[in-house]
This record gives sequence, C-alpha cells and structure tokens, in this order.
Amino acid sequence: MRFDIMTLFPGEVDAFLSSSVIGRARSKGIIEIECHDIRNYAKDKHRHVDDYPYGGGVGMVMQVEPILLCYNDIKKRVPDTYCIYMSPKGKKLTQTRAKKLLSKRNITLLCGHYEGVDQRAIDLIVDEEISIGDYVLSGGELGAMVLVDCVARMVDGVLSEKECYEDESIASGLLEYPQYTRPADYNGIKVPDVLLSGHEANIKKWRLEQSLSITKERRKDLYNRYVKRKK
Ligand code: SAH
Repeated sequence: MRFDIMTLFPGEVDAFLSSSVIGRARSKGIIEIECHDIRNYAKDKHRHVDDYPYGGGVGMVMQVEPILLCYNDIKKRVPDTYCIYMSPKGKKLTQTRAKKLLSKRNITLLCGHYEGVDQRAIDLIVDEEISIGDYVLSGGELGAMVLVDCVARMVDGVLSEKECYEDESIASGLLEYPQYTRPADYNGIKVPDVLLSGHEANIKKWRLEQSLSITKERRKDLYNRYVKRKK
C-alpha cells in the first residue's frame, strides 16, 4: 500500500512515520510513504502558498495552484491514487472507515493549514474529506499521521501475528481487557491470579468479562451494539 502526503511540513511528517511499527513496515517495503512539500510548487520567488480570503475574514487560505501542481506530479507516478482532504468538515475517522480504506491501494492525503484550502482545490482533486474528531487543529498533518498509522497497521504483514489488531479495543467491538507484564508483584500490587494460572479457557473467560464490564461502564453505545450482535 502506498501513501502520498501533500503538506507544508514534509520533514516532520516523514520523521514521525519513520519510527516504530510504521517505520519498520516501510523499511521492509510493505508500505510506501512519500511526503511532498507543497511549497516546492509555489511559483513566486518568496514561495508563497497562501493568500488573504476573498470576502474578508481572519487568517490565510492555501492557494489552489501549488496544490494542483503537487497533486499532478503525484498522479503522474500513481495514476489511481485516492485523494483525501484532512478536514474538520469531513466524515469522522473510525476503525470501520479505516478498514474500508484498506481496499484503496494508493492514497494521497492533503493537509491544509492556516484557515484551510481554496475550495477549488478540494472540488478539483478530492475524493473524500475525513476528520479525526470534533475539534479544530492548526493543520492536517496530525490527522494524516493518525490516518496513515491506523490504516497501515492493518495492512497484511505490518503487525506480527502476535500483535494482530483484530482483538484490540474497538476493532473487536469491545474495549480491551487490562494488560499486565512483569513483574507479577509490584510493591504488593499483584497481577490477577488467573493470568498466571496458564489455564487458557479461564484466561479467555476472564478477559471477556473484563472487556464487557469496562465497555458497559465507559461506552454504552459499543456495549449495546455488541450485545445486540451476539443475540
Ligand atoms: N477554517 C477551517 C479550519 C481550518 S484548520 C474550518 O473552520 O473548517 C486548518 C487545517 O487543519 C485544515 O485545513 C485541515 O486540513 C486541518 N484540520 C483541522 N481540524 C481537523 C480535524 N478535526 N481533522 C482533520 N483535519 C483537521
């Protein structure tokens, strides 16, 4: 799977996506990520990429041309790329939406900044707008990193079988049970006995009970959906 990210901060985004699970998947060639500096496509000598909004108002708006030129360059190499604009006006990113995006082999993400992006750029190139939550960020970069991380870790081979995402919070339909690692006793606070018992069926039962109880307490919506599905 390939991600192209159009941003004003390619170095920062690339550095983050070079670490941990995603970084390893990139080095193994399981996923490809390329960050593109929209500023490289500015035409004037000061490399401006934004201007005042028509009609007045505060802040600056990213101009259509550098974005289009950058996108056209990506399209030359990846003609079938699916373009997503990170935006608070978009559909909310969920595990289900992320899973659907797995079927797109190539995704281009447009990160806005300042007050946002000239609407014509969105109308001309964007297939879908996605928001990472009901709050406003200064730029689309954090959103793009969230989306890439969330989608990429579901690509085959990115997580080892051990770390498989299927039984994690949300993906499983429930919130995850509490996890523990060594030591078994930390200043008198002990790991639940059942986890040390080696009895697989009991461990499974305990984990499900914990999951159900924490989901019921914290996320009634998920809990009700889960119970309904199991009926
Ligand atoms: N004036 C705009 C907000 C601009 S915020 C409005 O009111 O809708 C600047 C940029 O940050 C946006 O172009 C977008 O790319 C990004 N952004 C802000 N909040 C976001 C969110 N919740 N999800 C994804 N991207 C977001």
